[in-house]
Amino acid sequence: MQKCRLNGKIVYAFKVINEKEIIDIEYEKKLRKASEQGELECEDCGLDVVFKFGKVKIPHFAHKNNSLGGGCSYSRETEEHIMGKKILMQLMINNYKDIYAEMRYRFDNGRWADLYFRFSDGKELAIEFQRELNSVVYWEDKNNFYQENQINNLWIAAGKREEFENILREYEFVFQHRLFINSNNNKLLILDVERKELIIASKMIAIDEEINEIIMDRIFFRAYAINSINIMPDGTIDCDYNREFDRARNEFIQSYLDEKKRKFEELECIKRQTEEEEKRINEKLERKHKEEMQRIERQPKETSNEKQENDRSDAWGEIGYSRNVYNNKHYQKKSYNEFRRNDDYYRDKVRKAILGYRYGIENLVRILLRGGATEYNLIKNIFEEEIGKGNLKAKKAFDEVMKQARLD
Ligand SMILES: [Zn+2]
Repeated sequence: MQKCRLNGKIVYAFKVINEKEIIDIEYEKKLRKASEQGELECEDCGLDVVFKFGKVKIPHFAHKNNSLGGGCSYSRETEEHIMGKKILMQLMINNYKDIYAEMRYRFDNGRWADLYFRFSDGKELAIEFQRELNSVVYWEDKNNFYQENQINNLWIAAGKREEFENILREYEFVFQHRLFINSNNNKLLILDVERKELIIASKMIAIDEEINEIIMDRIFFRAYAINSINIMPDGTIDCDYNREFDRARNEFIQSYLDEKKRKFEELECIKRQTEEEEKRINEKLERKHKEEMQRIERQPKETSNEKQENDRSDAWGEIGYSRNVYNNKHYQKKSYNEFRRNDDYYRDKVRKAILGYRYGIENLVRILLRGGATEYNLIKNIFEEEIGKGNLKAKKAFDEVMKQARLD
């Protein structure tokens, strides 16, 4: 343990070594003397503790009688927990001159805070630093207590920067991280004790409202050297994170919009070319027709019927060929129409959901939530067609979509 009482006053073992790793020999002497004279007392159980500081072990207190200490809650702290609290406490003491700072603070009602700070204006801040938190009840109780007593609070998880470099989606988080990110204004705070870094992570989501599709859903994070940031009295972090987050998100959206614009222009160009081609062919046809009419009119009356027929069929034959060109699929704006919504559009969405595409399920759910009976029936029919063929993946995807859209 790092904290105990000497004649009722708080003393910390880590204060023997200061920030620059220089030993405060006077403080060490004071603790050793008090330890020899049996004046150090455990905060939890009130029993005697001793000061220990050897070549391997960092300065700490331990229950005099180990068998008794085994029953006290304050003897099972990990080194990471101790170091993390120390780093945070030092940061606050460095940044706020007249701050009251206490580690393992005990409130009047017996509740503990890992770190407690009182600022010169009377504002209070509690910081909880946890490696693992699996009890929702514990977390809710503590949050309610802080809220009722108007104590600002900040929850920081212990972790390593490396863990976040591979996380792309929210579901890859452990429960504690998911709990924190969803209750702290989309910000998960992680203290990497070894690197002395605070990592901030958020969900970054972008939706194209025009087509009602998720175009990005990932985890964004930044790591900050602990000495480069400041924790504000209200528990927010003073650093450039929000700016960096907005910048990255805007950059993505801008490149997406640019690409969308490029595709649209390409489409417009095809459309224009098709129309021009149509116009050109129509003009050609008209011209041919006019020429043919004029030729027939000029024909001397004595020309044989047979000859006339031949000439005529030849000429029409040519026009007929042109008509074929005109009727060719290529000139029927087909390539333009393909981009409009029809059965193919939903068929493609269902196919992607079945094949497990990224956002496949999410996009169908969004369509269903925004759409009506038409969309529902279309999607259901396409799925049933696949399920009818014995496609188990389709059954699974369909159930998931209906469940998420609350239509099951
Ligand atoms: Zn104890």
